[in-house]
Amino acid sequence: MSYQNDVANFMKAGEQPVRSELSLEGDQATLYMNLISEEYQETLSAFKTNDMIEVADGLADMVWVIMGMCNSCGIDFDSVWQEVKASNMSKFPNGKAIKNDHGKIMKPDSYFKPNIKKVLDLEE
Ligand SMILES: [Mg+2]
Repeated sequence: MSYQNDVANFMKAGEQPVRSELSLEGDQATLYMNLISEEYQETLSAFKTNDMIEVADGLADMVWVIMGMCNSCGIDFDSVWQEVKASNMSKFPNGKAIKNDHGKIMKPDSYFKPNIKKVLDLEE
């Protein structure tokens, strides 16, 4: 079970197509991009009014519609996440940040950029 699967089940129940092939085309992707924007604005308003309950609700709604966007355009979110996580963690060889004299976290030799193209299987 995953968040993306939960949302896929919701979409199937609501007769919204869940794509397995990559594409940004179609009204549904536009709909989910608009929903992401809406939920972000709601969450920001809740944050500005110091409303913890609505912030938590808004964050969950944001994850929900982001998973809906992934399902609308055929992105396997977990594989992208694993790649981004590996890239971010590559900044900490031996689990420790390397900082310069001013405290800035430096990119060590171990650092690598996420290869999203490869993860999405879009390499020629
Ligand atoms: Mg909401």
